[in-house]
Amino acid sequence: MAASGKLGTFRLPPLPTIREIIKLFRLNAVKQLSQNFLLDLRLTDKIVRKAGNLTNAYVYEVGPGPGGITRSILNANVAELLVVEKDTRFIPGLKMLSEAAPGKLRIVHGDVLTFKVERAFPESLKRHWEDDPPNVHIIGNLPFSVSTPLIIKWLESISHRDGPFAYGRTQMTLTFQKEVAERLTANTGGKQRSRLSIMAQYLCSVKHIFTIPGRAFVPKPEVDVGVVHFTPLVQPVIEQPFKLVEKVVQNVFQFRRKYCHRGLGMLFPEAQRLESTGRLLQWADVDPTLRPSHLSMSHFKSLCDVYRKMCDEDPHLFAYNFREELRKSKSKTQEKDNDKESYRL
Ligand code: SAM
Repeated sequence: MAASGKLGTFRLPPLPTIREIIKLFRLNAVKQLSQNFLLDLRLTDKIVRKAGNLTNAYVYEVGPGPGGITRSILNANVAELLVVEKDTRFIPGLKMLSEAAPGKLRIVHGDVLTFKVERAFPESLKRHWEDDPPNVHIIGNLPFSVSTPLIIKWLESISHRDGPFAYGRTQMTLTFQKEVAERLTANTGGKQRSRLSIMAQYLCSVKHIFTIPGRAFVPKPEVDVGVVHFTPLVQPVIEQPFKLVEKVVQNVFQFRRKYCHRGLGMLFPEAQRLESTGRLLQWADVDPTLRPSHLSMSHFKSLCDVYRKMCDEDPHLFAYNFREELRKSKSKTQEKDNDKESYRL
């Protein structure tokens, strides 16, 4: 039973250091799994402090590994900490932490990409979307190969208000490769402005709160690491379905060095491309010669709103995929060539 509702100051008793835990349980990092551990508890404390006030909070930590961040969370006076770890080798070390924090730490051996956290915490924590965020927080230092697909999945969950966002506007504090952190937070015209910037910022207030040098991790990764804080917005900047926004944004950025009309044109079948792209840009009041990185959030909002209208007028438009058209026309050409060949034979 979690110590929910009980206020008071909790501190973990003296424990072996993370380095000793790694030795004790033979937790060598697996390079193929991009396991880079944080051993410096001042740094893990800083990540946890930046997550906000965790007093009496319910926290979901993704990928606790040997438990550095886990210790800092437990020392932050939380009501309950749920950790989901994929690698069984870490479970005994985590169990030791759980014994040191009776009733506070729940350990799940599982995969964060499929774990259903919406059923894990009490219903009473749920808040209306428009209210202040619930006392539920997500914190984690995951491998980069997991954190990016996970944030895309969770951004979609924010748009549906499901998954971890069934509790309301759950805040997240997660680490990313520094360059990805810069993309998530890049402003209009910024060097790192990309698909991720728009997808994250139309749904959340996103802050790159600090950078951890690669040398702080064991083993040291090739790159520095950015800690990013997300708070879902009460009202998304773009009020259209996630998949529609994703399609527009993806098309715009596929030719990131060209004028934006080039990528936007690919939203339309070749036969109507010129005319429909012109109409989209004109109705959305967007200069066709802006580069994708120079389009503001309000440009994207107008583009998505107008594209939605066009999709409502033409029910086949949303399903259109120019790569599919390209593939079909290539295979037609191939067939014709084959026919010519067979006549020659
Ligand atoms: N949080 C620890 C720290 O900061 O020292 C460990 C960080 S290490 C980069 C990532 C951790 O996430 C590893 O323990 C790894 O086994 C775990 N992990 C990787 N993929 C996972 C997944 N899909 N679900 C749950 N845990 C995962």
